[in-house]
Amino acid sequence: MFNYCPQCGSPLRWQECKGRQRQVCPRCHYVLWSNDESKKKQGLSPGLGK
Ligand SMILES: [Zn+2]
Repeated sequence: MFNYCPQCGSPLRWQECKGRQRQVCPRCHYVLWSNDESKKKQGLSPGLGK
């Protein structure tokens, strides 16, 4: 997966933020808070994670 900054169009870098990997723009420091994680959690079958 490869995303671009919605503000300046620069390629986003993976960077650790608060203990989690986030996609951050090296130019304007925009942080992409992906919804994928929450979607994945909701998509998991009940009982798998716990
Ligand atoms: Zn940017």
